[in-house]
Order: sequence, then C-alpha cells, then structure tokens
Amino acid sequence: MTKVSSVALSVLALLGATASVAARECGPEALGVSRVITIGPKGNAVGLQTYPRTLDLKDHEVVLTFDDGPEAPTAKVLDALAKECALATFFVIGRNAEEAPAVVRRETNEGHSVGYHSYSHPAITLRLMDDAAAKADIEKGIAAVEAASGGKSAPFFRFPGFADTPALVDYLQGKGYTIFGSDLWASDWSPMSPKGELDLVMSRLEKAGKGIVLFHDSKAQTAAMLPDFLRELKTRGYKLVHVVRGEGETPVVDAGPGWTSTTEPIIAKTLAGKGKGAAGGEAHGHSHGGM
Ligand SMILES: [Zn+2]
Repeated sequence: MTKVSSVALSVLALLGATASVAARECGPEALGVSRVITIGPKGNAVGLQTYPRTLDLKDHEVVLTFDDGPEAPTAKVLDALAKECALATFFVIGRNAEEAPAVVRRETNEGHSVGYHSYSHPAITLRLMDDAAAKADIEKGIAAVEAASGGKSAPFFRFPGFADTPALVDYLQGKGYTIFGSDLWASDWSPMSPKGELDLVMSRLEKAGKGIVLFHDSKAQTAAMLPDFLRELKTRGYKLVHVVRGEGETPVVDAGPGWTSTTEPIIAKTLAGKGKGAAGGEAHGHSHGGM
C-alpha cells in the first residue's frame, strides 16, 4: 500500500474532505501539493498580469487555476489532477454550473477550490456593462455556483477577460472577495497542439520562476496537455501550492518598481469600438481574446 503524504492528509483535513478523497493514494513520485496558502477574509486583488501584487510564492512554487468550466474537457482535467494528487482552483461560469452541477460538486469533493467567473461571461465583458447589470451578473453567477457546489465555493473571483472596473473591484473587495488575476498563462485560447501548449507554458514558467498560472478547463488541448504538464512540473522541481479560503492575512508581495499591467493593453485593443451600446455582431463568445 502506497502511503498518502502528510501534506495531502492535512489538506484533506483542512477541507473536511469526503471519504472518497481520503482514499486517494499517491506515492512520492506524484506531484502532490507541497503547501496550502490561506486566503483571508479581507478583500484583495492578486496576479501581476493585472494587479501590482501577487501571492507570496517561493521560487518554483506554482498555483494552478482553470477558467470557464464546467465544459466537456473538465472531467479529463480532474482525472489528470487526481492521478497526481494535485489540487487547483476553478473559476466557474454560473450558467455552466447550472448545467453541470455534478461536475462542480466533483471539484469541491476532490479538494479543489471553486471560485466565481460571472454568470454569463458577457461578450462585451463586465467592464462595458452598466454597473448595475454587471453586479447583477456577478451576483447571479455567485448564487449559481454556490448552489451547484452545495455551499462549498470560496469567495474568489476572476473577471472574464480580466476586464474589471475600479467600482467592481471595490464592490467585490468590500464584500470580502479576493480577485484573482494571474502571473502567467498558457494562451490556451489560441488553437495549438498539446505539445505546443506544453512547451509555451513551460518556457513562460521557467522565465517567471513561479506564479499563479491560468488555464481553461473548457479547452480540449489543455486537458490533453495536462498529464504531461504535471509530470514536467515534478521533473523540473516545481512545487504545487493550493489556495483555500480561511482566516488571517493573505500572504501577498508587492510588484517591484516599474510594474505595468499586461492585460490592460490587450483589453483596450479587444474592446476598442465596442463601448456601451456599441455591442455589435462581432461580440461573439469570448470577445476578450480568450483571456
Ligand atoms: Zn473566462
């Protein structure tokens, strides 16, 4: 019988995980989870691609996040994570949660964190909606994911396309939500082979050295790549950090001088000409360039 790592056990204890999860066993060859960061109840915003601060990760520490599910590839993503005793955070779209509540329950039952990503993932983004409409979409999404998860979702929010507004950031932080940007991404909204995606994200990770990584569990190429990615993390000495809701202060570190937003120029380009009332036929699906 292979032994369950003590870290995995403490994670499971922390999460009050179900017996089916506790039965999961991974040997030392699995990636596993090296430590847990507790996200405190005070509102925050992290992820250097959008905000001038991020989680205080050590060199070679990685936080995995997946957006836009549940979709068809999500089960394969969960299978790949389970095989490595790896834990991630899913930013779930409210209407998808309504359609596939069993998948959201599987995510929380298996120890993953589940956060929010709006109800409708609006094509014009929350930024270009009226403030009241944007808040309504956010709240409807939160309610849908809370219901699907049986109340086990966490007060974590990621803006579709990272297209926030100061007012919406204040609104969410005031309610104790932590807003997650990302430190790097796989660009998995662009079609590429799983091998191409693996090479791209690993080269970016090697450059950054650590960080909150953004993937989409809605993408088949990401689901196909994930087993190799998790193996590669293990081989190259990366450690997985899991984020969960909790008490205390969230450990964050400020960006250095000269910080600039990676997402803002992309959002500006994507939303150019869209504006309130200008949402035309081009506003199909992910108009934000897939972020
Ligand atoms: Zn999204």
